[in-house]
Formats: sequence, structure tokens, C-alpha cells
Amino acid sequence: MTTASSHSFEPVLARIAEEIERTPGRGRPADYIPALAACDPRRFGMAVAELDGTVYGVGDWREPFSTQSITKVFTLALDLAREGDALWEHVGREPSGNPFNSLVQLEYENGIPRNPFINAGALVVTDRLQTRSSDASGELLAFLRAESGNPALDFDQDVAASESAHGDRNAALAHFMASYGNIDNPVPVLLDQYFRQCSVMASCADLALAIGFLARHGIRADGDRLLSQSQAKQVNAVMLTCGTYDAAGDFAYRVGLPGKSGVGGGIIAVVPGRCTLCVWSPGLDERGNSVAGVAALDRFTTLTGLSVF
Ligand code: GLN
Repeated sequence: MTTASSHSFEPVLARIAEEIERTPGRGRPADYIPALAACDPRRFGMAVAELDGTVYGVGDWREPFSTQSITKVFTLALDLAREGDALWEHVGREPSGNPFNSLVQLEYENGIPRNPFINAGALVVTDRLQTRSSDASGELLAFLRAESGNPALDFDQDVAASESAHGDRNAALAHFMASYGNIDNPVPVLLDQYFRQCSVMASCADLALAIGFLARHGIRADGDRLLSQSQAKQVNAVMLTCGTYDAAGDFAYRVGLPGKSGVGGGIIAVVPGRCTLCVWSPGLDERGNSVAGVAALDRFTTLTGLSVF
């Protein structure tokens, strides 16, 4: 990781952090597991990474947090790289308009989840990656370490155990899809992989760097290609339309970038061909997106004019 001491992104990040600091009302941390409920909603960090790996940050940008659903983008990319379009026979590409952990659409859509970024869809993607790599979460972790340049990235075993202890709804989703033949692996194996995937700890700097391949049209940090240019476009498009749960329309309206949030309070975003961002603040709105995170990305695209529109 290269850190520049002065650059045009630094004033804008400082300004955004100042504005966020003055904004009351940060939402509430997720409370379905104790590790997340204990987070302080006043924490805030933001990082911008350029295509060459230069990173700029402000606030708690080097503090590791629980990545949660942000990892769904990486497992999607890793599986697409392995199996290509066959994946889309098992998961759709339409916004769900329902909460991320909803069961309702699965029955009338024959166990095919709406998109890869709601829990049901991510379970399908992890299942397929598991079939192909036999250690989906290990492959994910190795990829994140390589792209971020941070070999210390790891799972948080307490979070993974806690996810499992409170995992009835994800178990229900997996069993229900298995009843339609849309899950290959034994459900306990899949859930173990999925909960570990959700438990990865990483900072804004790590994640801004790790998602760089989507701004580089599929090219990894070392110059190798992970996705074709067209696949990178497709993943960005699915992030734009489905990456922030049932608030994806509002996120596109306010931020104008492909983005993916997690209930740990992180959001990653991509400016194709230019840079990547990650913001973290644990207080969530009622849809599960970071309140300060969305506000900060909104300000970033407004102040810089960098968006896909
Ligand atoms: N671990 C969470 C779950 O599966 C992840 C959800 C999220 O970040 N939206 O419920």
C-alpha cells in the first residue's frame, strides 16, 4: 500500500469527515449479534484508493471492522471467474425490494433468489464457490489478503460463532433453497462457510484496495485478470441495482455509484476507471445501511463530481 502525504483527495476527505462530525443522528448498530451491538455509532472512517494502489484516508480508516455482506461482492466475483454465466441459472439479477434476509420471494420464484447480494443469493454463490474450490471462505480470505496487500486480514472467530448461534434465518433460507435443488453442499457445510465469510475483519484501507479490480475493469492488483471487462461491468451493474438491499434506488439517486453495504456499517463503492472507496460507521438505518456512510459517499460524489452519471 502506498500512502500519499498530500493529494487532491485529502481536502475532500477532511471536509466530509468534518461535516459528518457535525451531523447528529448516526443510526443504531446492528444488534442481532453482541459483537456488532457493542460498536460505537460515532466511529467514522473513509478511504479512497487509486488504481495504482495509492490510498488516502480520514478518521478510523485503518481500523478493522466486521465486513459482513461486503464480502458478497468478492465471492460473486470469485465464482463468476470460475464458472461464468452458468451461475445466473441459479441466482437472478433483479433488485428484491425486500429486506436482505427475506424469505418471501423464494417460494414463488422456485428457490432462485432475486440477486447475489441478498442473503439467499449470497448463500447460493457461496455454495457454488464451495463446490468449485472446496474452501470458499479460504479462497475469499486469500483473495482479500492479496488484493489489499495485508497478510494479517483474518476471520473473527467470535463473530463467526455468534453468527452461527443466531443463524436460524440463514439456515431456513439455505434449507428452503435446498428443497428446490438449488444448493449442492450439505447445509451445515454451506452455513459454516457463509458465517466465516461474514466474519472477515478488514479496514476501509484494506477494502478500498481489495475492490480495485472492479475499477480496473477486472484486473487484479498484480496485473493478472480475474474477470473479463464485460464481467466487471456486470458486477458493477448488479452492485448499483442491488448492493444496498431495498434502498438501492435511493443509494443510486444519492451516490450514483455501484456500492455494497454490510451490517457492520461498511460500504464499498467503485468509480470505474478512476478509484474505489470504502466508508465505515456502525450506525445503520432501518434498511441496514450505514447512515453516516451513505451521507459521506453522497457528499463525495457531490463535491468531486465523480460518479457513473
Ligand atoms: N451476517 C449477516 C447475515 O447473514 C450479513 C447480512 C448483511 O450484512 N446484510 O444476516
